[in-house]
Amino acid sequence: METFQTIKTINQYDNHTFMIEWGDGAVQRYRLCDLQRCCPCANCTDEFTGLPLLDPQTVNDDVRAVKIKSIGKYGLQIQFTSGCSTGIYSFDQLRNMKGTKC
Ligand SMILES: [Zn+2]
Repeated sequence: METFQTIKTINQYDNHTFMIEWGDGAVQRYRLCDLQRCCPCANCTDEFTGLPLLDPQTVNDDVRAVKIKSIGKYGLQIQFTSGCSTGIYSFDQLRNMKGTKC
């Protein structure tokens, strides 16, 4: 059976980091540069193999979010100050991210 992640709150932690409090009370912290390196859009991730096409070196450690928009019950779209902003991060992807690992 599939489980659906829900988000209680999203809070900015500092300029480069935000936190998600999940519906079950778990709290996770995300660096925006780590998220951008895991961009799930078709240009940054091979949609068949799931392997990254994006060179992580091209993502600036200082990247910030201009806007974080929730896409229904599915995920978040993050508009970054530079680089790719077209990927939609599913709640499952966010929940399963550990540190710098996608
Ligand atoms: Zn992308």
